[in-house]
Amino acid sequence: MKVFVIGIGLIGGSMVLDIKTLHPEAKIYGIDNNESHLAEAIVLGVVDAAATLEDLADADYVIVSVPVDVTLTILPQVLDAIGDQTIVFEVGSTKMPICEAVVNHPKRRNFIATHPIAGTEFSGPSAAIKGLFQGKTNIICEVEKTTFKLQEKALDLFKEMGMRIRYMDPKSHDKHIAYVSHLSHISAFMLGKTVIDKEKHEQDIFDMAGSGFESTVRLAKSSPAMWTPIFKQNRKQVVKTLDEYISNLSKFKELLENEDYDAIYNEMQSVNKIKEILNGMNVKK
Ligand code: NAP
Repeated sequence: MKVFVIGIGLIGGSMVLDIKTLHPEAKIYGIDNNESHLAEAIVLGVVDAAATLEDLADADYVIVSVPVDVTLTILPQVLDAIGDQTIVFEVGSTKMPICEAVVNHPKRRNFIATHPIAGTEFSGPSAAIKGLFQGKTNIICEVEKTTFKLQEKALDLFKEMGMRIRYMDPKSHDKHIAYVSHLSHISAFMLGKTVIDKEKHEQDIFDMAGSGFESTVRLAKSSPAMWTPIFKQNRKQVVKTLDEYISNLSKFKELLENEDYDAIYNEMQSVNKIKEILNGMNVKK
């Protein structure tokens, strides 16, 4: 079994760590334009050897796990280079632009568009974790465009990694993910900014920052190189979610200015149902 991972970071690295555990006979090759990441991935045992796009002809699996702007250019090149039995999957956080980039490619049927809903705020090969995908959802788009035998080959692997499969069209994916992932990141980044700006003048503020602040702002540690192209590609949906979020913030501010504490209480109480929603999600996993 020959597996190639292009972009040996958190997601690609975690995937191949699982593949190594599940299929010890697999030979894992890494392709990355960051030489130090490649070297580190070999030392850490995330990949066995370095490779290039020219080596893809007899690959069984190719995992494309680079920032989504890079995916748009590299994915067609990968499809040009693979053999008939190769299945290529990418794991990007946007789906419409990526699916559109290869819609007419002669090897479109060798490709499956996925988004594993798993991750951390860290990046690079040292961020790769075994078992990251256990119990997590993998969203698959336009599955009918992948040849049946190769669909099975990819799905079997995802199931072995412990993922639940959910099918969705790329437009719905980008719309829904804008709320639960893209907006959450902006909200963390801007919360971090608000506190950092203030802290310049008030040193004490971080001494008082407890675990509530830390857990809320966690996503603000994420990589700008990864997130800028995501916001660019999903700009329209993200702007819509921001409008709704800003409107909610403004309403809350208004209630406080008007000292309408009953309304504030009710507002928070109605959002408390997030507990049951999140518990339900954990039970399903
Ligand atoms: P990551 O840890 O930063 O890894 C990406 C790797 O790709 C890095 O080593 C990067 O090197 C390399 N790279 C950049 N440009 C390249 C190119 N032109 N050719 C080859 N390699 C290149 O990123 P990640 O978090 O694993 O994210 C990878 C993909 O997964 C993204 O599409 C993202 O949308 C998706 N995703 C992320 C998460 C998450 O929570 N992080 C969750 C689900 C899906 P440099 O660091 O030098 O740029």
